[in-house]
Amino acid sequence: MGPCCRVRVCYNPANPCKADNLLKNKIFILAQTRAAQVAEAARGAHGLLSAAGVLALSAVAAIAIAAQMQPEVTAELVRQELAVPVALQAPAAASGDLDFWREEKIVRGDTVVDVLARLGVRDGGVKRFVHADPGARPLYRLLPGKSVRVRIDEGGDLLALRYLTRDGELLKIDQNDQGGYRAQTVAPSFATRLQLRSGEIRSSLFGAADAAGLPDAVTMQLAEIFSGDIDFFHDLRRGDRFTVAYEVLELDGEPIRIGRVLAAEFVNKGVTFRAFHYGDSQGGEAAGGYYAEDGKNLRKAFLRSPMEFSRITSHFSLSRFHPIMQTWRAHKGIDFGAPTGTPVRATGDGIVDVAGRQGGYGNFILLRHQGSFSTAYGHLSRFATGVRRGARVQQGQVIGYVGQTGWATGPHLHYEFRISDQQRNPLAVVLPAALPIPADKLAAFRARSEPLSLQLGLARGLIFAAAD
Ligand SMILES: [Zn+2]
Repeated sequence: MGPCCRVRVCYNPANPCKADNLLKNKIFILAQTRAAQVAEAARGAHGLLSAAGVLALSAVAAIAIAAQMQPEVTAELVRQELAVPVALQAPAAASGDLDFWREEKIVRGDTVVDVLARLGVRDGGVKRFVHADPGARPLYRLLPGKSVRVRIDEGGDLLALRYLTRDGELLKIDQNDQGGYRAQTVAPSFATRLQLRSGEIRSSLFGAADAAGLPDAVTMQLAEIFSGDIDFFHDLRRGDRFTVAYEVLELDGEPIRIGRVLAAEFVNKGVTFRAFHYGDSQGGEAAGGYYAEDGKNLRKAFLRSPMEFSRITSHFSLSRFHPIMQTWRAHKGIDFGAPTGTPVRATGDGIVDVAGRQGGYGNFILLRHQGSFSTAYGHLSRFATGVRRGARVQQGQVIGYVGQTGWATGPHLHYEFRISDQQRNPLAVVLPAALPIPADKLAAFRARSEPLSLQLGLARGLIFAAAD
């Protein structure tokens, strides 16, 4: 057992130190989200590990509610059982299953031996079986882009293998009692299950998420959903709690992928925030967003910054010495220093009003947004494809790239936030919320969110009543 197993529960016995790698990834993600926090995140690493170990043994728990639901239609939750004892005894067992299956994408030219090697499968007779057994033949016609999933034991021996064949059937190879293998092909059954988990913050969000068995993908979604209301770097407090309901996609009864977060609750410094997913991802009025119980959009209509990672090199000011004009002038925007070619994002949904050369601004984009808002982007090296007058852009979409066209002493983005065509300080204005659920969709939204709200309440009550 690797050293990490002494301080926490291993999700994957075949690779005891996966926890370490996960942690490194998390720190990397944190660092990416806010470059300035890199050092702090790294310093917190050890505390996070041991805290997770303690918590895994304590009462913070995960509960799984089996629910039948159609992913795309209104949620109809059939709660089969809400068994407290099962939920509270073993978070590791409840959380391990997702990490337990390894998945590897097939690339062109792959043989089954290549794929098994990448999956870390030791050859304890499995190759011989695959060669000899006619039932395993589909593995000789691997389809690039598809996946092979395996479960292996501590020694790397294959326990089970799953592969969706060219004919859309599911090939299952399982170890039998004698240590040999058995292959069979069945019609696959896909299902989406709703999973509910809760956690309490002791040291960090990821520490608590680990203890609650929350997959990283869900933790990231959770942080993203509430990012408009909670600053996850500065506002988290010991004792903050979360409950989250998310989809787990299953193939033949086994979890293969994490879906969307459908509902979540976060209690931060005693204030409760709730979010419900509504809308589809195909676009439209409420395109797959998160809304409060009353239909208010949790997303702000504008991002604070059009750059993902950058530093502000010149603030909004009514008087500064202009390096090119060599005079004192107002700087009614914000400059973000970044290398030429760095992507620039639209800060809000809108329509391109200008995309072209404009004097000192150089290559320039002006976007018109809801109400009387507009945003401007200057000194671009080039425009993203399709960004031309009249084009519709979405919040976060890359519209151009940093450059130093126009009056610029070095590569940077000049960004302006305008209300009724007057420049305002984008860091100081109170940003409006994005559009709420339209009135005619409120009933449908409630029909979907209310059962989820009930589920969140139940999960929270059970878990924290037992923990307190
Ligand atoms: Zn500027």
